[in-house]
Amino acid sequence: MPALFEANFGIPDTFLYAIVFIWGAVIGSFLNVVIHRVPNELSLLPSSKCPKCDNGIKPYHNIPIFGWLMLGGKCVVCKNPIAWRYPAVELVTGLVFVLTFSQIGLSAFLPVALVFVATMIALLFIDAEHMILPNVITYPLFVAALAVRIIYPIAIEGARFSDMNFAPVNYLVGYPEWAVSLAGALLGALAGGGSLWLVGAIWKALRGVEAMGLGDVKMLLGVGALLGWRLTLLTIFLGAFSGALVGVVMIMKSKDRDLQTQLPFGIFLGIGSIVALLFGERMISWYVSNFIP
Ligand SMILES: [Zn+2]
Repeated sequence: MPALFEANFGIPDTFLYAIVFIWGAVIGSFLNVVIHRVPNELSLLPSSKCPKCDNGIKPYHNIPIFGWLMLGGKCVVCKNPIAWRYPAVELVTGLVFVLTFSQIGLSAFLPVALVFVATMIALLFIDAEHMILPNVITYPLFVAALAVRIIYPIAIEGARFSDMNFAPVNYLVGYPEWAVSLAGALLGALAGGGSLWLVGAIWKALRGVEAMGLGDVKMLLGVGALLGWRLTLLTIFLGAFSGALVGVVMIMKSKDRDLQTQLPFGIFLGIGSIVALLFGERMISWYVSNFIP
């Protein structure tokens, strides 16, 4: 969005981006609470405590990123180190919010996109730390994605999700927009959750080991419902590609050649789905125009 706000409202774009970044960092500090407490089934009520000694943290130490820097990465009371994950999640969320805002712009879809990327950030950090993708996040993600796919075409004139312009969803002629959108969402969920489930089942049959948890499958139900089948298959491709790359590097660096460690695949799916949401349509059309005659 080049200089849109400067031209139209007299607000410098850099100022607007700074606000979006700060807002993202504040959401990031809430995501830290989610990442720490949801897998441990603790309450999400806002009360900032040192994760080790439970001592309250002063409000000014709660300022995203800077609070951690002011504390020198240590709790004032017990001097235990506070994980670098805290400022990292705040920084990442701030940057991803800026990126999302720059790609989506001020549109009715922006709130959905921001909630989606925030959810992906929470899931990928939870998977990295705890090796699980909690149902309390993946189930509501799926339900919310279906709701968005039904409500948006009804509430917003001309709102279309990108998969509705492509086969086989665009074959549905003469049905109301919300029904076409819902059909696209269900197909996307099937493409996402179904293909991951199938890969897991085949792997289990061949190797006799669980290749991935059902958490990944449930996560991709929600991603698939919102993004549609094309961007979801792109998400899986990006996730598998980057996951394989990291996996090969890890195996090469490790002494143990038959490494059986499970990579938390949710990390790569989370990153893949954010890339697919923001850049996916352009990536697909670039690929199609260059490689498909
Ligand atoms: Zn402490």
